[in-house]
Amino acid sequence: QAKESGRNRYRFFAASMNEQLNRQRQIATSLRQSLDGDDFHLVFQPQIDLASQHIVACEALLRWQPKEASNWASPAEFIPVAERSDLIIRIGQWVVQAACRQVAKWRSQQLLPIRVDINVSGKQLHQPGFFNFLNDTIAEYGLTPKDIGIELTENVLIGADDDLLRRLTQLHDAGMEISIDDFGTGYSSLSYLKLFPVRTLKIDRMFVEEAPYQQKDRAIFEAIVNVGHKLGLNIVVEGIETEQQTLFCQQLHYDLAQGYYFYKPMPASQLADLLTRSEPN
Ligand code: C2E
Ligand code: MG
Ligand code: MG
Ligand code: MG
Repeated sequence: QAKESGRNRYRFFAASMNEQLNRQRQIATSLRQSLDGDDFHLVFQPQIDLASQHIVACEALLRWQPKEASNWASPAEFIPVAERSDLIIRIGQWVVQAACRQVAKWRSQQLLPIRVDINVSGKQLHQPGFFNFLNDTIAEYGLTPKDIGIELTENVLIGADDDLLRRLTQLHDAGMEISIDDFGTGYSSLSYLKLFPVRTLKIDRMFVEEAPYQQKDRAIFEAIVNVGHKLGLNIVVEGIETEQQTLFCQQLHYDLAQGYYFYKPMPASQLADLLTRSEPN
């Protein structure tokens, strides 16, 4: 009996694994086709300075609308597929170009200038040509490294060599904002905050979610904010969804917030409307 159900469970497991692999293969094929079409676009989620209530920057988030609707996938699903192949390199280049093009366009429309942060995957960052491509594209659109920020996760920095450190330091010295994304969820230690030229920590959504109610989440959250501030880093709290979370964070005097409570990711045109209405201070 036990053996029988074990075997069934194995069969079920194998079948669903197989389904998953098929799905991933389909997504990869479809992503590859999409690179030649225009099935990608960026949406932008504002970051708010709570003291002034101004939009100071935004994060560019990739969206994919494949021609074959059944292949539709969220970034949480298709980015990991792209990362497992070399697709992420070309997709990442598309994102760099699209972000720069957008900033240049807003610039030409005389909108209040804000920085656009892009997410950079490990494979992309460790690609030899990445930094030249980034610098060249920024220059090609008449921008400076201050106009574009990069978000890296902790895991991406594990095993970074001197060369990567040097290239990141050059960008930092040129004024580029380098942020650690999803801070607190990775495997690295705090020591790399000393090593790498990081300007901003983005505290992962999971900590703020329960922080107003759970003592442990609150303690971790406060500890991250304290360490960050003592190191002179900016803190962005990600994924604020409620007024309670906002009030809780305000008590800690953190700097910046990004979350559905303020704004969801939106098309460029919608963000342009918001920026038009902002008053320079
Ligand atoms: P991330 O960089 O941590 O981006 C934040 C994610 O949280 C976004 O999901 C955003 O829409 C979502 N979010 C923001 N505020 C809230 C909130 O208040 N509540 C909730 N529940 N969620 C919130 P999205 O756009 O689905 O992206 C997921 C992940 O996909 C990103 O996480 C990032 O790791 C990756 N990704 C997205 N675009 C790119 C890209 O262009 N390149 C690379 N390499 N990765 C990307
Ligand atoms: Mg991010
Ligand atoms: Mg994040
Ligand atoms: Mg995330």
